[in-house]
Amino acid sequence: MSNANSLDALIQALRRLPGVGVKSASRMAFHLLQHDREGALHLSQALRQATDSVRHCALCHTFTEAEVCVTCLDPQRDAAKLCVVETPADQSAVERTAAYKGRYFVLMGKLSPLDGIGPKDIGLQKLFDRATDGVVQEVILATNFTAEGEATAHVIGEALRSRGLQVTRLARGVPVGSELEYVDLGTIAHALVDRR
Ligand SMILES: [Zn+2]
Repeated sequence: MSNANSLDALIQALRRLPGVGVKSASRMAFHLLQHDREGALHLSQALRQATDSVRHCALCHTFTEAEVCVTCLDPQRDAAKLCVVETPADQSAVERTAAYKGRYFVLMGKLSPLDGIGPKDIGLQKLFDRATDGVVQEVILATNFTAEGEATAHVIGEALRSRGLQVTRLARGVPVGSELEYVDLGTIAHALVDRR
């Protein structure tokens, strides 16, 4: 029975991945063991390597293998501006616009009371310490426009305004190239309220 136990353990381990149920986990395990043992070994080595070496940047909290990430070390960046995003993917999206040259803080999550994710889980104290270091002047809240992203922005905004910082939020607007007739009402309403 020891072979079956190893298989069960692999399936249980794969089920830890988000969105993977017992069916998908079984399919992945069978595939790896039946058709791609080399890939399975490669996967296990990559997992070991990443869990050993990847950590959080001491300044912006994003993933890095060094004490401080490349973006934080870049002297060309405006240290007076701090853009708060939920994930490294969101940070990349802001970077691709080439419209922002300040620094970042990556929450690596968002407040979600229903899932038991509170201020401690997303490193808010680290953000507050960073934002009040005397160098940062403006904090730009670029969390997502979902209920959780808005709630996260609200909590951070309140806390930092009470510490005397200038806090701004990404403007919500009508997508470039879209026709009003096809834009949802909530977006049009926000665009009207945030008009400038
Ligand atoms: Zn960093």
